[in-house]
Amino acid sequence: MSEPSLTPMMQQYRELKARDPEALLLFRMGDFYEMFGEDAERGAALLGLALTTRDKDKGPNALPMAGFPHPALESYLAKLVQAGQRAAVCEQVEDPRFAKGLVKREVVRVVSPGTLTDEALLDPKAANYLVAVVEVKGKLGLAWVEVSTGQFSLTGVSRTELADEVARLNPAEALVSELSLDAPWVRTLRAQPGLAITTRPSWDFQAEQARKALHDQLGTTTLTGFGVDDEAIEVRAAGALVAYLRETQKSSLGHLTRLAPYRRADTMALDEMTRRSLELTRTLREGKREGSLLQVIDRTVTPMGARLLADWLTTPLTRPDLIAARHEAVAELARDPSLRNDLRDALGEAYDLERLAARAATGRAMPRDLVALGKTLALLPRIKARLTARRSRRLSELETALELCPEIRAEIAAALVESPPLPLKEGGLIKDGYHPELDELRETARGGKSWIAKYQAEQVRRTGIDNLKVGFNQVFGYYIEISHAQARGKTIPADFIRKQTVKNAERYITPELKEYEDRVLKAEDRANALEYELFLTLRDRVAAEAPRLVQAGGVLAQADVLRGLAELAVKQGYCQPEVVAEPVLEIEAGRHPVLDAVMPPGDFVPNDTALGPDAGTILLITGPNMAGKSTAIRQVALIAILAQMGSFVPASRARVGIVDRLFARVGATDELSRGQSTFMVEMTETANILNNATPQSLVILDEIGRGTSTFDGISLAWAITEHLHDRVGCRTLFATHYHELVELEKTKPRLRNANVAVLESEGEIVFLHRIVPGGADQSYGIHVARLAGVPAPVLDRAREILAFLEKQHGPDPGHPSGPIRKVKTGRALQNSLFAALPDPLLDALRQVDLASLTPEAALDLLKRLRELAG
Ligand code: ADP
Repeated sequence: MSEPSLTPMMQQYRELKARDPEALLLFRMGDFYEMFGEDAERGAALLGLALTTRDKDKGPNALPMAGFPHPALESYLAKLVQAGQRAAVCEQVEDPRFAKGLVKREVVRVVSPGTLTDEALLDPKAANYLVAVVEVKGKLGLAWVEVSTGQFSLTGVSRTELADEVARLNPAEALVSELSLDAPWVRTLRAQPGLAITTRPSWDFQAEQARKALHDQLGTTTLTGFGVDDEAIEVRAAGALVAYLRETQKSSLGHLTRLAPYRRADTMALDEMTRRSLELTRTLREGKREGSLLQVIDRTVTPMGARLLADWLTTPLTRPDLIAARHEAVAELARDPSLRNDLRDALGEAYDLERLAARAATGRAMPRDLVALGKTLALLPRIKARLTARRSRRLSELETALELCPEIRAEIAAALVESPPLPLKEGGLIKDGYHPELDELRETARGGKSWIAKYQAEQVRRTGIDNLKVGFNQVFGYYIEISHAQARGKTIPADFIRKQTVKNAERYITPELKEYEDRVLKAEDRANALEYELFLTLRDRVAAEAPRLVQAGGVLAQADVLRGLAELAVKQGYCQPEVVAEPVLEIEAGRHPVLDAVMPPGDFVPNDTALGPDAGTILLITGPNMAGKSTAIRQVALIAILAQMGSFVPASRARVGIVDRLFARVGATDELSRGQSTFMVEMTETANILNNATPQSLVILDEIGRGTSTFDGISLAWAITEHLHDRVGCRTLFATHYHELVELEKTKPRLRNANVAVLESEGEIVFLHRIVPGGADQSYGIHVARLAGVPAPVLDRAREILAFLEKQHGPDPGHPSGPIRKVKTGRALQNSLFAALPDPLLDALRQVDLASLTPEAALDLLKRLRELAG
């Protein structure tokens, strides 16, 4: 396209667009936001807008265009952000009426999935992370920030750890250097669902540049005060975050004042698969919060509490002192119902202090936000009072950390009306009595009528004309009207200037009247402008206190989480677990927290578990499908997680030896594979456990080896169990319906068999869901199939095949004298199983002579076959 043909406005558009080509540019034109070119095409598709062209006469070369009216901005931004887009909002920054030539335009705001602060665009219960990843000589640095709350962290990671951390944080947006786009770890980011990747200039990630950005932001000359090494790779990622935020937020980031290094050693390692398998925050099949552990344990009443709870649940601790501090606090709250209730009542009235403070700090807070903030601050004295003189260390620490910020509260209360209107520039925000000049302006604007009445009376007195009237019209404003009849014989004062003659009357103005008029009409405008200014000053003052407010928000969040956990413990009958260093796991009458909560009270059958150097480190639970194996082993993992996150646990007694890493794998058939074969996925996962588990770890295996043939499966399960027993020595719970594995107990001293008690009478079976010592010796698969409604002929046929198999191979095909002797013949056996079976249907088919078959005979044959099939 030939550039000279561009209008000045399109030139302006091009320039703004070139500054950030990746972002959709929403270009304000009068009452509309318009997009052009490729942006228009992309935007129209995403937003369901009509695509038009700007200059229709150019035919196919015409520039595509799409737009929407300005009041729809927020809702369209929400859609764009949900679609993972970044959008730059360009406004007209001068009044078109006064512009000389082209109206000045500027990008005033860049909205991207990871930098949201607007309430309307955020899920109150979930953190919204922006991450940055950088690679230096094969090592990776990761930093993340929650712009809407000011949480800011960083850590060094390996590539697999990156995947786990990214899955844990579930970020909305990731920053990557333009030079790293082809790096293998970027694939990890791309594989994360719903993660938008934003390319950034490589210099943002350079050590010097990044350190400078961080030092500037945090107001320090070194990061050591935060426990961060200035030379660490992740510092570059953190610096790149700051640079990006400065650019997109176009505001100070006063709430971003602390950098918290993330120490993985202090937290239980939970890889992505484990998190998913255990359905910590989302269910496996539907990905919903409902039915997850998080939803079941969440008794928080504030959004910041809900977010913190999710954070605690996904990063359980490994330091006994830190865990104990949480348990003590929960215990104190659990013992004291009135304390719990008072805190709940007060917290229940609180607004999202963290996000409100962040909005103030980034200059986005609206008057209503500040009112909400003020109301929340008003609750603090009550909360602080309830936290005083507490015995547990954590609650006393919270009390100390809670700053009341009374000045801000007083200032907001004095300045803003109870429920201010949404528009900022139309007045009605500031209370009377807050600012003398504003009061005066308002008085002038409001007092118009009485002044006029007074003035009119004065003029009547002065002229002696009784029905002299002060009126108003749009053309020349205030005037004095004297009818011709009245004027007769009276002298019109010299300062009356004649302006208009109407039927029967003359209209005059006076300098005094004009001066007044000027004041009244301008007073309202000036009052509105002054209100806006006063609001901005107030917002700045609040912004300056953002770090204290964010801290207060953090205290409320913790108080809410601890209180919620105490409430959960009391309502659901949880006990305080004992957390110890030795690798033991002793649970009496343990329950699955989710099933226990959803089943009618008392229906869930509790189970005991004992693992450890004395009790044995591996528990092999055999038994039929649907017996409750999976539930039993998962509940142990969930109890360990709950204990280490600081919660009480669903059991009558629990002693939990710190778990450094927890691995949970559910059978391949339960998990949809993503492109790879299910068996391949399963084995990769298993390899990961075998390579990474330590003697302090906890491994939960559910039906490993199911994605392959029976004999392969048994062999692998056998070998994996041996390895965990002999080499790793970690606490392991293994559920399997391969009852062949019970033989392992004979040669493995630290392995114990258990099975699920089944009541069987007259061919009927009832699962008791009770785990008892000893191996299962029968598979009840066919019974289960019947329960599931599989038709009787199929069940009969299955029984026939089972009998045949048992005759051929003995009742227990596993039964190896040495570990997995049978494997070599296994596959051949599997393949030949069905071929060898006599089958009347197949026999009949084999006998058909196709060459001589007439259509009628074919139909007949089909009928016969159908009958044979039953
Ligand atoms: P498996 O792993 O042996 O196939 P599951 O653990 O999936 O069996 O349990 C099957 C069903 O049995 C569960 O969905 C649940 O409804 C019920 N169940 C399991 N354990 C218990 C229990 N301890 N108390 C009550 N019901 C249970």
